Amino acid sequence: MAEKIGNVWVFIEQEAGKIADVSLELVCKGRELAAQLGVKTEAVLLGDNVAGCVDTLFAYGCDNVFLAEDSRLEPFTVLPYAKVIMDLIRAHKPNILLFGATLKGRELAPRVASEKLGGLTADCTDLRIDDFEDKKNNKSYTNKLMQIRPAFGGNIIATIVNTWDDPQMVTVREGVMKLDEPDFGRKGTVTPVEVKLTDAETVIKVLERVRADKEVDLKGAQIIVAGGYGVGSKANFKLIYDLAEALGGEVGASRAAVDAGWIDHDHQVGQTGVTVRPRLYIACGISGSIQHCAGMSESKKIIAINTDPGAPIFSVAHYAIVGDLNTVIPQMIKAFKAK
Ligand code: FAD
Repeated sequence: MAEKIGNVWVFIEQEAGKIADVSLELVCKGRELAAQLGVKTEAVLLGDNVAGCVDTLFAYGCDNVFLAEDSRLEPFTVLPYAKVIMDLIRAHKPNILLFGATLKGRELAPRVASEKLGGLTADCTDLRIDDFEDKKNNKSYTNKLMQIRPAFGGNIIATIVNTWDDPQMVTVREGVMKLDEPDFGRKGTVTPVEVKLTDAETVIKVLERVRADKEVDLKGAQIIVAGGYGVGSKANFKLIYDLAEALGGEVGASRAAVDAGWIDHDHQVGQTGVTVRPRLYIACGISGSIQHCAGMSESKKIIAINTDPGAPIFSVAHYAIVGDLNTVIPQMIKAFKAK
């Protein structure tokens, strides 16, 4: 008799009961994968007083929510979360488990994968189901998860197949999967989870949480003004902030600007930063490396300012301004304020 295929699971990241966008994106993707496999989409929701999230998860496509509520699961720490998820995996044997490639996901997924002695592909940008022939070991697999991500510094797109035991585990970058329209008429089931923790898993106590002065919301921004190494100095980044303020936008940056210490990593756009799709992206003094473009080329309108007419950024830009940003940006601010 053919072995029963396990369901597709999505780890749901939430903060004070608000579900992270990436988790909803993964529920939508999970539903697509589950439909291909003929199985269910299930959410793994952990926290304290988080039952209010359940209807949203149904609306985006979950058939069932494993709900683990316990005061020891708030705020997030990796050991209790990994324990609860491992207990669930042992009991229900999912086929696939998706995590967001966020700070939490990047901490939790490897912990679960190492406990399970399973594989994990980090930072995927696409996923699909396909058959796979392992010619080297003369084995064939049906309905495997193809785990797609940039490799070798973004120069190739690799398709990775994990031939270890299920679940197939991946982290997926924020903002790369499509968010479907929710249907709040959809309903599903809730499976309450008994949280069994020992002292070993509750050894870490969070004593205080300090919020950053201003949270950077690049993903939600409609307008982003991004500065690169061409900005020249930390002090000169004021120009980028001034233009962003004039347009009511957020400030982004290339990795070269972040590495130079001119701006925090939260602002980094690209392969190892955030993926953004604003209405308007203004790239100032950014050359347009593959790794930077991987995070911004889907923006609706791109304006690039660069002194080098051959800069690769111009090949993804809708409007090219060949010029010195020190001259162009003040003129843009002046023109905008004069409106
Ligand atoms: P540069 O390449 O130095 O370009 C500066 C540009 O400014 C030039 O085109 C120059 O003509 C222009 N310029 C100079 N002066 C002026 C002026 N006065 N006015 C106008 N234009 C001017 N990079 C990212 O951005 N995001 C990532 O997430 C990322 N991830 C990476 C991951 C890996 C594994 C690797 C290997 C690299 C990654 N990088 C990433 C780095 C990437 O390869 C580039 O090095 C980086 O994007 C370059 O940043 P930049 O364009 O600001 O700097």
